[in-house]
Amino acid sequence: MSLQTAGIHHITAFAGDPQANVDFYAGVLGLRMIKKTINFDAPDVYHLYFGNEEGSPGTIITFFPFPGARRGQIGGGQVGFTTYVIPPGTSAFWKERLYRFGISVVEADRFGEHYLQFKDHEGLQLELVERAEGAASTWSFAGVPAEKAIKGFGGAILYSTNPQRTAHVLESVLGMEKIGEFAGFTRFRTTGELGNLIDLPMSAVPRGAGGAGTVHHIAWRAKDYEEHEMWRSVVGSDGYQPTPVIDRQYFNAVYFREEGGILFEIATDPPGFTVDEAPEALGEKLMLPEWYEGKRAQIENGLLPITVRVPKKI
Ligand code: ZN
Repeated sequence: MSLQTAGIHHITAFAGDPQANVDFYAGVLGLRMIKKTINFDAPDVYHLYFGNEEGSPGTIITFFPFPGARRGQIGGGQVGFTTYVIPPGTSAFWKERLYRFGISVVEADRFGEHYLQFKDHEGLQLELVERAEGAASTWSFAGVPAEKAIKGFGGAILYSTNPQRTAHVLESVLGMEKIGEFAGFTRFRTTGELGNLIDLPMSAVPRGAGGAGTVHHIAWRAKDYEEHEMWRSVVGSDGYQPTPVIDRQYFNAVYFREEGGILFEIATDPPGFTVDEAPEALGEKLMLPEWYEGKRAQIENGLLPITVRVPKKI
């Protein structure tokens, strides 16, 4: 039985101050904060989710913001760059917007595409690329009109300590197709319209260190619960050690570390982010899973207040 993921479900990273995190991803990038919850494994820390209006798989970046967190070091065993897709013809708008926020942009070409590469306020590496693929955004915030807004992930650049083995897991386990090589990168493609192109530098990258401004894990899509069970056995039968299925409220998760050091997750598309909030109210209230509701007052008291707001530089 061979399975094929449609692409990235979400990417999860570490951050420091939660308000600065909201200001960058909602305020500068114009994404919607679709969920404000806590780290289910450490309820004194937020878990913030940013995506398109609906919080569709393939658009969601999530953060654990630890106030005062030490910076990490980007390196092998991590996602190196998180790639976002913008509509064709909008690069100039984004370049100008990033410039206005004092963010330096490096322009790079890869596989015939033009990338705007930059860092968030804590050093997390991001890039924008124009592509026609992927449904247009319907969300407009902080001076980013929907027709120029980020549509979701284009993919990612994976920094591996063992690229040959990471290539193996992408092809043989996740079912991606190797489609090209360019300047030391191998490109893999899968079926989704977003989060479907993964670039892997084929020279080993020295190991990084976790901390603010680094990615913790990358999650790949499973279309339903039945397929998710199959994914767990596919991962296990290839010699990786998957965790049991874990209920993450908005999706079910299985994690395993691939041999290049990157923590992979397989996450289900269902039930999605409207399971506990109406679509128009996503992200407004602190959402807790049932098992933490009894401690709501204590949890809320331990978290710094955050607001989604339009940044002053607009
Ligand atoms: Zn995850």
